[in-house]
Amino acid sequence: MTRKTADNPMRRENEPDCLLAAPRCGARTRSGEPCRAPAVRGRQRCRMHGGAKGSGAPKGERNGNYKHGHFTQEAIELRRQIRALIAQMLASMEEEPRP
Ligand SMILES: [Zn+2]
Repeated sequence: MTRKTADNPMRRENEPDCLLAAPRCGARTRSGEPCRAPAVRGRQRCRMHGGAKGSGAPKGERNGNYKHGHFTQEAIELRRQIRALIAQMLASMEEEPRP
């Protein structure tokens, strides 16, 4: 005799709270709804929708959209740091009384 188990792993109401709180995949499914499977850690999509290890385009010069390096993460971060330094410098100039 076979018995059906009480908990169905595909039904989310039995998931622990920590799993329910996990970020969800936002890929649009054929029904038009978001996928809602748990997203892979550090990514926006689940393992079936491009979140899998090794999927996605390479970073930097190896990426097909790479043109001149002006918009690499490093270049954007460098400009952000320079802007912050300039803002800091301008703020310190405002504080000091003029001689
Ligand atoms: Zn998904």
